Amino acid sequence: MTDYSHEPLSSGVNKYLSRVCAAFLVAGTATAQSASPRAPNDQGRIPILEYHLITDKDSRWGRSADHFRRDLKLLYDRGYRPVTVSQMIDKRFDIPAGMSPVVFTFDDASPGQFSYIEKNGQLEIDPNSAVGIWMEFNKEHPDWGKRATFCLLPGAAAGHAFFGEKGISGQKSEWRLKKVRFLAEQGFELCDHTLWHANLAKYSDAVVQEQIARGVLAIDSAVPGYKVRTFALPLGVWPKNRALASSGTWHDPKSGREVRYSFEAILEVSGPSAPSPYSPQFKPFSLPRIQMIDAELEKALDRLDAPGQRFVAGGTSKKVAGGPAR
Ligand SMILES: [Zn+2]
Repeated sequence: MTDYSHEPLSSGVNKYLSRVCAAFLVAGTATAQSASPRAPNDQGRIPILEYHLITDKDSRWGRSADHFRRDLKLLYDRGYRPVTVSQMIDKRFDIPAGMSPVVFTFDDASPGQFSYIEKNGQLEIDPNSAVGIWMEFNKEHPDWGKRATFCLLPGAAAGHAFFGEKGISGQKSEWRLKKVRFLAEQGFELCDHTLWHANLAKYSDAVVQEQIARGVLAIDSAVPGYKVRTFALPLGVWPKNRALASSGTWHDPKSGREVRYSFEAILEVSGPSAPSPYSPQFKPFSLPRIQMIDAELEKALDRLDAPGQRFVAGGTSKKVAGGPAR
C-alpha cells in the first residue's frame, strides 16, 4: 500500500482512508480465512463410522454400494482422511496438516464388504464390494490412503466368515484367508469380533474367552503373528465379567496351546463422535461409533463443524496437532 504518512492530508481524507483501510483489513481477513487450512486442534472429536452390510440398497444394517461411494467422496471433500483405530490410540495421525481423521470400521466380515470375482482363473476384487470401491477411490484420490479397521468373524452363519464361504454370494471357502491377508498387507487393520457373534452376556467366562480367543486365533491363521489390538463387542453387549472383553486366555484342545488375547481398544456399537486421544474424556476401552444409517454421517459432520469440535491434524508425520505453530 502507498505510504501517505509524510503527506499533508486533510482530516476528511484521513477519515476516508482509515475507513478504506478498515474495509481492506476486513476483506483481507475473510479471504485469508477461507483460503488458509483449518487450524490444528488436537482436542477435537473424531468420528468412528460403523458399517455392516454393503449391498444393493440402504437398510437398517446395510449401506448401498452407491451410498458408500458417496460417503467416501463426501468425507474426502470435507477434509477428512482415514486412519485406523490403532493409529488413533497411538496418536499416529499420518495425514496432512489441516486434515481431520475419520475412522472406518466394518463389522461382521460379510461378502459385500470384500468379494472376489473369478475371471479366467484369476481373482479380481468385486468393484461393487466395499474393498473394491475403496481401492478404486484410492486410485482416483491417492492422498486418501488405505486405512480402515475390519472387525472380523471367522465362523458365523450366512457367509459371515472372513467375507464369504461355501458359494454364498459366489464366494469360495478357500478365498477366505487370502482376503484377510490382503487387507493386512494393504495396511488395513484386523480387529476381532468373536468367533460367531456371540451375545457375550449370555455365556460363562470360559465360553466368553473361547469366543474371543478363537477370533484372534483365526486371524493368526491368516496372518501369522498378527497382533490384534482392537475388539468390537457383538451387539455392543459386554460380558458379565467385563474385564474378559479386554484380556483373557483359552486353552485350545486341538493344539494344546494357550491362546491369549489382550486388546488396547474396544468398540461400542453406537454413540457420537469419539473424544480426542489427547482429551481426558478419551476412553479407549469404550469407543463410541456412529452407525451409518440414513443421513447420520452428514449430521455428525455438521456437528463437528461447530467451533472447536473437530480434530484437525497439525503435521504430516507421526506427531500431530498440538505442537508449536509453524
Ligand atoms: Zn457385529
